[in-house]
Amino acid sequence: MDEPTAQNWEERDRSHLIHPFLPADRKDRVVIVSGEGCRLTDARGRSYLDATAGMWLCQVGHGRREIAEAAADQLRRLEYSTVFWDFTHDRAIALAERLVRLGGVPGRRVLFTGGGSEGVEVALRMARGYHHRRGAADRTWILTRSAAYHGAGYASGELSDFPAYTTGFGPHPGQVHRLSAPYPYALGQPPERVTDLLLQELEAAIAEIGAHRIAALIGEPVLALGGMVAPPPDYWPRVAQALRRHGILLILDEVVTAFGRTGAWYAADRMGVRPDLTVLSKGLTSGYFPLGAVLADEAIAGVLDSHEGFPAGHTYSGHPTGCAVALANLDIIEREGLLAAADRAGALLGEGLGGLRELPRVGEVRQYGLMAAVEIVQGHGRREPLPEGTYALADRIRDRTGVLVRGGPRALTLAPPLVISDAEVAEAVAGVREVL
Ligand code: PLP
Repeated sequence: MDEPTAQNWEERDRSHLIHPFLPADRKDRVVIVSGEGCRLTDARGRSYLDATAGMWLCQVGHGRREIAEAAADQLRRLEYSTVFWDFTHDRAIALAERLVRLGGVPGRRVLFTGGGSEGVEVALRMARGYHHRRGAADRTWILTRSAAYHGAGYASGELSDFPAYTTGFGPHPGQVHRLSAPYPYALGQPPERVTDLLLQELEAAIAEIGAHRIAALIGEPVLALGGMVAPPPDYWPRVAQALRRHGILLILDEVVTAFGRTGAWYAADRMGVRPDLTVLSKGLTSGYFPLGAVLADEAIAGVLDSHEGFPAGHTYSGHPTGCAVALANLDIIEREGLLAAADRAGALLGEGLGGLRELPRVGEVRQYGLMAAVEIVQGHGRREPLPEGTYALADRIRDRTGVLVRGGPRALTLAPPLVISDAEVAEAVAGVREVL
């Protein structure tokens, strides 16, 4: 039988798939068929430099044989078993132990999920359930922030600052209050003023809603889709302190930032903040298997495990093959020193992109660990973002130079695999420069 041609794959895709965020009248398709290191290849044989690490998740690079072998070994030994009720298995236990050890806070416990949105839903349930079980059933409000992305579920979608998820889909859980994000450029404020201003806003919101009615605040340590924005260094420690004073839990969404992306296992540790709940996914398996986890501090876990236990789970929670893949992935990150590598490559990327600052369409360049962004503005002294976002610009960079970057509402973002070489960093910067 003849091998299907690239055009044939594209036609079959158009006839059979629904793609998130792709209108039917857009005909182009990029049919990716293989990957190695930081490179992806499509069905037409074109090679791309993946400066997005898939969806900001492929820490160890594409095509790692040792992860494929770990998955195959596990599939042969025990492909699936549940962690519901009193069932458990060796891979989930080993991985949970390791996730707790990496954070250095003893007593934390882990509930596994199938991905990021699912983890956010679980964390919300944990936060509200924790208060309810302690006799504070009125604590149901959730504080979230502008420019946030927390997933595509009904609750996680509502927490995201993403109107497409809430418009036209009927009622959402509600009782969500949105605060400003610590995004100095968008706020038009110098970074050193931002924490003071946002703490005033936080205290005012708590006073208005009533601390006794608020369950938690959720936030990404570094805003990812919002534009790779790291807050001023005093932001998270001071926010955490204020929340603790009011009995409000802190949920950190580390779906993007954990496992080396910010040069640390968990961004929280680098930022000197201790969350009550941490949502993890993406870099946990580098995308070799869909898996996520929620880390709960000892006090929260103790309350949730009381009575009849924590009443939520999913068929694929703690999937043994996913856990085996995660363990192999964490082995590589550790063995190859990828936390330090992320910092080094990040600094190089930040420096390279910094050279674009003089271009009229570049408002700001940001970098934290191996997360970087180029804020695109209307130009000629105008700080406003492009009304249509930077999505088409990212497509142009891909089509013209073969460098994959992500578009967004305001910025072009780059978060390549942590194994990226110096030459590949230079190639990514050159691709962005050529189109800008
Ligand atoms: N949280 C953050 C910060 C994310 O960036 C994402 C996805 O990009 C999610 C949650 C949702 O994760 P998933 O797409 O695995 O459901």
